[in-house]
Amino acid sequence: MSITNNLTVGTKGVRTTWGYHVKFLVNSACHIWGNQVWNTGDLSKNNWWVALITFGEGWHNNHHAFEYSARHGLEWWQIDICWYMMVFLESIGLATNVKLPTEGNKLKRSFASTNKFK
Ligand SMILES: [Zn+2]
Repeated sequence: MSITNNLTVGTKGVRTTWGYHVKFLVNSACHIWGNQVWNTGDLSKNNWWVALITFGEGWHNNHHAFEYSARHGLEWWQIDICWYMMVFLESIGLATNVKLPTEGNKLKRSFASTNKFK
């Protein structure tokens, strides 16, 4: 095996291992540490440092509240690299029918509106 093949195999191994660990990190750390913005009835939380290393997946409470949304970082300050890529793909016509939560959806999931009826 040549050195190029060794590098290719090594790079794929690192990339795959990194991908799995980051995915598992989101589903463990974001159910323990962070802030809960939306009333999802579970332990999901938004975690900024997980979001930074996972390109936006760390806005996990947002994801649980609006699982259909292509955008996880719903606030302007919530960095979401995956969303920025989606905007680019939509701008060149490679992504269509991109779904986002409406203001009505957000109101239904807000703590303020759910507490009003208790
Ligand atoms: Zn989760």
